[in-house]
Amino acid sequence: MPNIDEYLQSNAERFEAELCELLSIPSVSADPAYRDDVRRAADWVTDKFRRLGFATETITTAGHPLVYAVSPRVDDAPTALVYGHYDVQPPDPLEQWITPPFEPSRRDGNVYARGASDDKGQMLTHVNSAEAWMAAEGRLPINLKFLIEGEEETGSENLEKYIVEHAGRLACDCVVVSDGAQFAPNRPAITYGLRGIVYYELRLIGPNRDLHSGSFGGSVTNPANALAAMLAGLIDEHGKIRIPGFYDDVIQITDRERKGFELLGFDEREYFDQIGVDCAIGEEGYTTLQRRWARPTYDINGLSSGYQGEGAKTVLPATATAKFSFRLVPDQDPGKITAGLKLRLAELCPPGIKFELHSHDFTGSPGVLVPLDSPAVQAAARAIEYAFGTPPVYTREGGSIPIVATFHNVLKADTLLLGWGQSDDGAHSPNEKFSLADFHRGIKASAKLWEELAACGFAENVGCVKRTESDAKQ
Ligand SMILES: [Zn+2]
Repeated sequence: MPNIDEYLQSNAERFEAELCELLSIPSVSADPAYRDDVRRAADWVTDKFRRLGFATETITTAGHPLVYAVSPRVDDAPTALVYGHYDVQPPDPLEQWITPPFEPSRRDGNVYARGASDDKGQMLTHVNSAEAWMAAEGRLPINLKFLIEGEEETGSENLEKYIVEHAGRLACDCVVVSDGAQFAPNRPAITYGLRGIVYYELRLIGPNRDLHSGSFGGSVTNPANALAAMLAGLIDEHGKIRIPGFYDDVIQITDRERKGFELLGFDEREYFDQIGVDCAIGEEGYTTLQRRWARPTYDINGLSSGYQGEGAKTVLPATATAKFSFRLVPDQDPGKITAGLKLRLAELCPPGIKFELHSHDFTGSPGVLVPLDSPAVQAAARAIEYAFGTPPVYTREGGSIPIVATFHNVLKADTLLLGWGQSDDGAHSPNEKFSLADFHRGIKASAKLWEELAACGFAENVGCVKRTESDAKQ
């Protein structure tokens, strides 16, 4: 792409200056005091798209605006939807910043500011690459739709709604998101899997009031004892979760994935040292990375019952509650897991106890998996190698990004998670930074990606969403 590459080179300095301009707007979505600044950031992004000649709208929501921009139509070319966000986390604690969070500072090859990596810098890589195509070639090789929100840091509630209500308008062959990290410096990654989550609150009810454990102990079921036993009954000594049907829909780790994980050179010792733990545990038969990325897990997140103050109080509590969650992998269905859990809890519940189970629907989200041999993943791999000089590694992620599940379920589109950041960028922390080298490589990779996606053969594959044989359930 000689014209494009030359354009990127001669505009590199301006791209950095524009990034600093956007970074100087304190678009903190969580704090109402910044409402006008959030709006200013939306306007800045809108303006940028208008200057590219994209059909652009600032969409009002119940919260902060969404910016939606569409590139000039290219017939017989696929469509990619780019998702990003212009809002940022609060900058506190301010005194720990070496330079103020909203006065971008370029030093040691990085730009330091709140939002540098998460996500203004990463999001702009795709905007700048689109600019380069428009300016140097007069047109893009594919159709681009940009959906840039201002509420990512507060839960994306209005975006979810918008996607569900406007699925037709957002139709695309794949989604592109850069809002994460490379595996390590100079080891760019394609994240092709995310875990999902279901989150519950369990409340056990015993006697009609707190009782004296001396007078009553041993004659009635203690809800705290019962809670401990019930929670323990959800998992066995081999690390297998004991809920009917829990593993039925789990897509097994393929041989190719096992080998891929091994090649990453994950240092288990260092991982456990960092968190001050002296041994690996978990589901038998799996490595630590496999357990973190590709197997479902069960964790108690909070417990409360009885006396929590200082000293001793010999109470037999009337109630006990626990918050716990399961990280899910494709194709586990949150609804089916809840149904199985209720059956299992009924089985485990001792006499003298009633239980109530509430699921936190807002966190009920399935996992996602993008087939490694899909044309879109292959296109992204070629684009990354072109820009970074090294092929990407393939990683999965133990956490959940509900919006990606929404893209998958509502738009039926796979998401390419192409993080250009580094794990030490300090997203959500003081002194957030983004490497300027990664910024420019990200722009170059993005520019190449549009060309590669245009040529990747979406048409023959009816979009890139078709799950291929090798990734099918084993
Ligand atoms: Zn982000």
